[in-house]
Amino acid sequence: MGIRFVLSFLLMVCVACAGGVRVASLHPLLSEMARLVGGDGVVEVVDLFPVNAELHSFQPTGQEVMAAAGCPLLLACGKGTEPYLSSLQQSVGEKTRILELGASIPDVFVPGSNVPDPHWWNSPRNMARASLALAEALAPLLPAEKLEGLTQRQQRYAKEMEKLERTARLRLTRAPAAQRVLVCSHAAMCHFCAAFGWEPIPVLGIAAESQGDMASLMPLLKQLRTRGVTCLYTERRESPKFMQNLADSLGVSLHPLIMDGIAPDLNTYEAIFLFNINSIAKGFSDSGSSAP
Ligand SMILES: [Zn+2]
Repeated sequence: MGIRFVLSFLLMVCVACAGGVRVASLHPLLSEMARLVGGDGVVEVVDLFPVNAELHSFQPTGQEVMAAAGCPLLLACGKGTEPYLSSLQQSVGEKTRILELGASIPDVFVPGSNVPDPHWWNSPRNMARASLALAEALAPLLPAEKLEGLTQRQQRYAKEMEKLERTARLRLTRAPAAQRVLVCSHAAMCHFCAAFGWEPIPVLGIAAESQGDMASLMPLLKQLRTRGVTCLYTERRESPKFMQNLADSLGVSLHPLIMDGIAPDLNTYEAIFLFNINSIAKGFSDSGSSAP
């Protein structure tokens, strides 16, 4: 009886220790960052974002609130991505700190407005900045002997992001200067464009679910024709008919982008970011104007 009891007890202790500090996350890309920076066995990430949910319409239910309860840290994108954060804070209680990682990122405004683009994750350098904010928030939650490892993993993560940024820069500079215009469905690529020196022209609003206003089609067509735009980009998961109509009217190609960072079939930031870079490169290659 004694040995069985001791073994059961040890197993329970190991299971409790294996998870580490529980960190809840409202975006799959933040979950991945927390796993990589926090480390196996040091943090246990609790994913709150359902697999097939849409970023701009998701609202946490009682199920997500229960999952987050007791987590000392809850990661959010911030910059207005989650308009429900204050009510979520009330639901999870003051023992859970909600950290808006976007708060560590300088604003980039949607052209012609004073509205900041919340999609800061579309720049790898921003991801590197956010990983530092994450490590700073994790540090007080960890025992002293885990801190060196935390710093090393954050630095490794930031280096990987810098590498991705360089790879993208190399690919994107093949586009002739006049073609460095990103006409996309919703206003989600302003951070990306600021990072790489492109010009964003968002056709719809901030949310991917905006369906477009056909009345605005004629002036938009005129603007895009004048600019000599040769391709358009749209959210891969929710491509509004408006974008296809616009592309057909202009006689240009339409290419998918993963602007909200949600892609259940591509489970790393690197895979999502490279998907976007390949798609943009295909856009300017199809126009026949890329350098060999
Ligand atoms: Zn979006």
